[in-house]
Amino acid sequence: MHVGRILVLEEGYPYIERDIRGIFGAPVPIAGKLSGEIPLAGELSANSVRIALGLPGREGVSAAGIEVPGRPPQFCQGCPHADSFTALKRALEGEADFFTASDIGCYTLAALPPWNAVESCVDMGASVGMARGAATVGQKRAIGVIGDSTFYHSGMTNLLDAVRHRTPMTLLILDNGTTGMTGAQPTISPTSQLPKLLEGLGVVHDHIRVLEAHRRAIDADVAVIREELAYDGVSVIVMVRECIEWLKKARKT
Ligand code: SF4
Repeated sequence: MHVGRILVLEEGYPYIERDIRGIFGAPVPIAGKLSGEIPLAGELSANSVRIALGLPGREGVSAAGIEVPGRPPQFCQGCPHADSFTALKRALEGEADFFTASDIGCYTLAALPPWNAVESCVDMGASVGMARGAATVGQKRAIGVIGDSTFYHSGMTNLLDAVRHRTPMTLLILDNGTTGMTGAQPTISPTSQLPKLLEGLGVVHDHIRVLEAHRRAIDADVAVIREELAYDGVSVIVMVRECIEWLKKARKT
C-alpha cells in the first residue's frame, strides 16, 4: 500500500475513524479525534486541521481595547416563528401557571432573549410528550411547540397518546412549509393535509385551529390561542407562514 498515514477529518463523533480501523491489510496509522491529532470537543477549525497536517498553527489576531458585542443566534429577519411566539407570549400575559415545551428546530431559538418563551427541549417529538406529562401531573396550561417537519417525523405518536388520554394541553405546530434549520428541504406533507391528519389522530375538529403566523394577524391569533388554552382537552393550533429562507430559495429557482 502506498498510503503512509490516514488523517480522518469529521465533525461530531469520530464514526469513520473508528470504523476503518482494522480494514487495511498492512497496518496504516490512522489519525483523527480518537488518536488525539484533532480535538475531540468543539468544531473543526482551519487551525486544528493545519496542526493535524503538521503545518504551523496560526494564532488569532489580538485586538486589544475593542469590545465586540455578543451576537447570540436569532431568528432570520421576518421569520414567521417570531410572530408565533409574540402571539403566544401575549396570550400568556397574566397567566402565572404555564409550561412551554419546545421541540428541535429554528423555533428553539425562542428560548433566548428577547423571547425567553420555552422551558424545555429534549429531542425530536419530545415537546408533545413533555406537555402531556406536565398536564398529567397537574400543570394548568401545558403547551407544546413543534415544527411541521418534526411533527411528521416524531410528534404524531405522542399526540395520539395525548388524545387517547384526553390530556388537557395545547400543541402549537409551527408550519413554515419546510425544514428550515437544515437547509430548507421540503416538508413531507402539505399544509392543506394537516388538519385532516390531526382529525385522523382524534383531535376534535373545533379544536384544530389554523392561523396565519404574521404580525398583521396577531390580535386575532392571541384571542384564539387564549380560547384553546382554556379548553379542557387536546387542542392544536397550526401557525402557518413560509420560512423566509425557503421563500428566497424558491424565488431564485
Ligand atoms: S431559516 Fe426560516 S424558519 Fe429558520 S429562522 Fe430563518 S426564516 Fe425562520
